[in-house]
Amino acid sequence: MTTLPLLEKHNLTPKRPEFLDSSILGDFVRCPSYFYLRHVLGLVRKNRDPTATSSMDWGTCWHHCLEAYHRSGMDLEAGLRAIEENYPSHVRPDTDRYKRSKDRMIQGFFSYVERWKDLDEKMDFVRHEQHFSVYLEDIDLDWSGRIDSIRRQKGKVRPWDYKSTSSMGSSYFDQFELSFQFPGYVLASEKITGQRVREITLDVFYTISRSQDFFRRTFSYTDADMREWKSNVSLWRDRLEYLLDNHLHEPEKWPKSWGQCAWWYGRKCPFFEVHNISPIDDTRLLILEQDFEERRWNPIAEESDT
Ligand code: SF4
Repeated sequence: MTTLPLLEKHNLTPKRPEFLDSSILGDFVRCPSYFYLRHVLGLVRKNRDPTATSSMDWGTCWHHCLEAYHRSGMDLEAGLRAIEENYPSHVRPDTDRYKRSKDRMIQGFFSYVERWKDLDEKMDFVRHEQHFSVYLEDIDLDWSGRIDSIRRQKGKVRPWDYKSTSSMGSSYFDQFELSFQFPGYVLASEKITGQRVREITLDVFYTISRSQDFFRRTFSYTDADMREWKSNVSLWRDRLEYLLDNHLHEPEKWPKSWGQCAWWYGRKCPFFEVHNISPIDDTRLLILEQDFEERRWNPIAEESDT
């Protein structure tokens, strides 16, 4: 059995996550063992190949651009400055499979403005980027996250989420409608603004090698949908808490979802090499110690590209 001294001998520090958000809970649902390694031990691979983070870094820069543009009252210069300051230099046509580049992001920004400016001028921005931690008393849940903006249009308040993607399959939008993230943003927006909120808009920048495009989709939820979200989240939260309470120092007591190992967001799971080795003695702990480093999930610093 793994014990705390054994983990400490390998410089591994188990800690309960300090907050719960849609990414952390989603990781637990996808694979409890991944959750343990990523969020309890807080591990990521050392010396990650920067091209492996191209999509994430591109998406982060795009977020900075839109945030600066909207926060400045739709000043083009502010958006361009944000690209200049945040563009990840390793995302270039010779390294990126979608041939993304700073010039393409600038072109994309001009196209975005042309496409949406008239519509955006008819909206009030109630909040720009908003980090939140709200308490949902009916399910005794502290829920955290970050909303890109909250807007009012024709009297309706709704959160707004920017995403960038290079894989727009037929179910691209469906993955968000039923999710931990979007109904959670709706409930958080209601708490933040004190107004009834039942909608959210997804604002997508789609880039492939030869073209770029933009899509917006608004999802609506009923009160019953909100109740179901709360019930489902609290059921998963209870499972998570049970494992944290009983197996905080025992990595091998966390279930492994083997069906996810080779297909973790389109790649192999970062811990594939760890779990591909037989669980003999402390071999796996040795690999974790040598090949991984502690860098805990920070929703403020990181963006996902989905
Ligand atoms: S390799 Fe598989 S079992 Fe291991 S953490 Fe990743 S998804 Fe889970």
